Amino acid sequence: MPELPEVETVMRGMQARLDGRVIIRAEVRRPDLRWAMPANLAARLTGARVVGFRRRAKYILMRLDNDDSVLLHLGMSGRITLRPRGKNDPELHEHVVLETDDGWEVAFVDPRRFGSIDLVRTNYEDDHRLLAGLGPEPLSKFFTPKVLETALSGKRMPIKAALLDQKLVAGLGNIYVCEALYRARIAPTALAGTVPTRRLVPEIKATLNEAIADGGSTLRDYVQPGGELGYFQHAWQVYGREGEPCPACPGKPECGGVARMVQSARSTFYCPKLQNMPPATPSGKG
Ligand SMILES: [Zn+2]
Repeated sequence: MPELPEVETVMRGMQARLDGRVIIRAEVRRPDLRWAMPANLAARLTGARVVGFRRRAKYILMRLDNDDSVLLHLGMSGRITLRPRGKNDPELHEHVVLETDDGWEVAFVDPRRFGSIDLVRTNYEDDHRLLAGLGPEPLSKFFTPKVLETALSGKRMPIKAALLDQKLVAGLGNIYVCEALYRARIAPTALAGTVPTRRLVPEIKATLNEAIADGGSTLRDYVQPGGELGYFQHAWQVYGREGEPCPACPGKPECGGVARMVQSARSTFYCPKLQNMPPATPSGKG
């Protein structure tokens, strides 16, 4: 599933290709993705000029000169392909295709259809039902240790679960929460109201910024800016690395390598020593 850095990178790729272009043709090949798309979507896109982009959490907003914004979510498997018109055969599962006045095609591909496309008036983007309840953007100046401390105060859930709550902070997913907690040396099971947010917040921002700088990273299908389909590889320190040496304490027997546990039915990866957790139970995987 694409996380915030992947979405940011997709948005930048779309921006590089689409900003300032007029959509001369819009093809909507099915009525719904995860939810119904607006019935007049093709008509409202055709003839509009793209005038800007914005990312909010894991949503992309493409702003048009008719005061509509296209609200796009990639879901589990969604991606954008960019190609000169007629240069490639259309792929399977291309649900929406736009053609620009400079001869490019932009297609939204989503085999599993957990993604979504909607329209919202640009002046009212933040009132859309999918955006209205979201917490602060983790990379914005408004997301400070004080703000997070206030949001977490009194919360007795594990910090891992709290950081995945989109109402507390928007756009964090499983991968980057694991990475940020590791880097901040905070136990993923620690009670949310007790963690040192002055240590945590800078690591959340650094983790996301480094991945964005790498061009994003993902476990699934993905498109690179410039039009080539591809996978980004990003060097996560603990995510997906159970049993591997922990990068911060190599060779120290008390660490024993990256451990994994399950919280809320999702894997958490951590260093038992640095994050002050009980030693990992051997998983039998060697
Ligand atoms: Zn370690």
